[in-house]
Amino acid sequence: MMQLGAMQDWKLRVTHLIDHAAREHATREIVSRWADGSESRTNWAAIRHDAMRMAQKLRRIGIAPGERVATLAMNHHRHLVTWYGAVGVGAVLHTINPRLFEDQLDYIVNHAEDRVLLFDKAFAPLVERMKPRWPSIETYICFDSNEPAEHFEEWIAGEDGLGEWADGDERDPCMLCYTSGTTGNPKGVLYEHRSTVLHAMTGMIPGVFGMDARTVMMPIVPMFHAAAWGLPWSGAAAGARFVYSAVNDPAVLSELIERERVNTSAGVPTVWLSLLQHYDKTGTDIPASLKTVVCGGSAMPRAMIERLMKSGIRVAHAWGMTETSPIGTTGAETWNWDNLSFDEQISVKAMQGRVPFGVEVRCVDLGDPEQVLPRDGITAGALQVRGPWIIKRYFKAEADATDPNQWFDTGDVGVIHPDGTLQLTDRTKDVIKSGGEWISSVELENAAIGFPGVAEAAAIGIAHPRWDERPLLIVVKKTDAEVCEDALRAFLGERVAKWWLPDAVAFVDQIPHTATGKISKKDLREQFRDYRWDA
Ligand code: AMP
Repeated sequence: MMQLGAMQDWKLRVTHLIDHAAREHATREIVSRWADGSESRTNWAAIRHDAMRMAQKLRRIGIAPGERVATLAMNHHRHLVTWYGAVGVGAVLHTINPRLFEDQLDYIVNHAEDRVLLFDKAFAPLVERMKPRWPSIETYICFDSNEPAEHFEEWIAGEDGLGEWADGDERDPCMLCYTSGTTGNPKGVLYEHRSTVLHAMTGMIPGVFGMDARTVMMPIVPMFHAAAWGLPWSGAAAGARFVYSAVNDPAVLSELIERERVNTSAGVPTVWLSLLQHYDKTGTDIPASLKTVVCGGSAMPRAMIERLMKSGIRVAHAWGMTETSPIGTTGAETWNWDNLSFDEQISVKAMQGRVPFGVEVRCVDLGDPEQVLPRDGITAGALQVRGPWIIKRYFKAEADATDPNQWFDTGDVGVIHPDGTLQLTDRTKDVIKSGGEWISSVELENAAIGFPGVAEAAAIGIAHPRWDERPLLIVVKKTDAEVCEDALRAFLGERVAKWWLPDAVAFVDQIPHTATGKISKKDLREQFRDYRWDA
């Protein structure tokens, strides 16, 4: 029989990350700015000590490996402690998105069977309302107050921090995140120790977050969204300095970036939009310390990329999902980057980038998933992905619910260019089918928001007796702006194919969003259910 190789047994468990951080980057600071304006400073050694105390406490109250410990909190160092404390006892950390609807909150806590909930005082009213619907939760702990539940620091105060991490298999689960899902109930993604460590190592490479010991990272992505893009794990491995803010007010964020000399940040485009608006309004500019901005979660508008790049910032426009841990593609530069003009560079960054090692992508025909499409930069298809940190099946789903070849259907539509660059064009459910051809709702929207006076735009397909579907463009105007429909159509006519032009434009006061801030096409379709072209 073939023998195994002869290297050491060092399991890929996430507790190694915090041990490494405490040993090699002990004094590297973790700064937290709380909602009330107060600040705390701690470091990786203290984070490990507190996480161990929390693991000891969890063990003392009877939390067994594999059970779920939940959080309902914004970004701060105690939340970080909780990540390592929960996995340290072998439990599964479940980060809950407080922006979910109450029915969804009800569903996921019961589905996860959470036993402990640690929450910010800001969410106390929500917790009080939900308590009767969350019978599995026995212990409530408050991160920043001693009411309505015991204060986190008091809760762990009796422990000495001298215990041992729980041991187990590297394929044990360590974290659970639910996708917001625009249809049906939210679905849980159960990450493993091994997948998380591999993902954390990838997070450090230069084409991804590029974190090292000189990194001063402000993670604006909330710790409850898509595993916080793995930053709490990668940051420990890299020994990065973290600057957290529990509020997303642009004035607070920009003051922190400047004062703490933040050089790297990660967040969704809407956050950058509000930061850039803040700089415009105050006549100030992006602090010179900021060198890298990682942005994803939805498409980065071209104008935003241009503005950031003009300020000398390296933009990494990334694509990922809760189901992909979430690193999928990243804004890594191509080999010919330095030979491109500034304009060409912006065009490259406006796409979703390329995969790092460990992720495979392909597009298949929208009508025939057996047919793998060429990487020609033209043919759009359903995006599939696979790799060691990509979901195999949803939490508690039947084992056979997956493709035997493990290609995960992302629900996104895109084209892959010959150099491997992914360009997303839509979601499979949102793409508009007209006369047997596909119209990208996203491209229509992106073009429309370039028109002066348009604050937000969404395109949906409306049934058409002759063409199957035709696009309706729904527009929110900027405050006090006038938008002429004919001028908008003429503007779009220069940017998209003639047959893509929306048959009508509907002006509305607001467009519905999901809990993660994305346009809710499902709600829009519902809102325009009775719309008729002959109307
Ligand atoms: P979530 O799991 O909530 O993070 O949502 C994942 C979905 O967000 C993906 O399937 C995409 O539809 C969308 N998304 C993520 N990153 C991007 C991006 N850079 N551009 C466009 N859409 C994105």
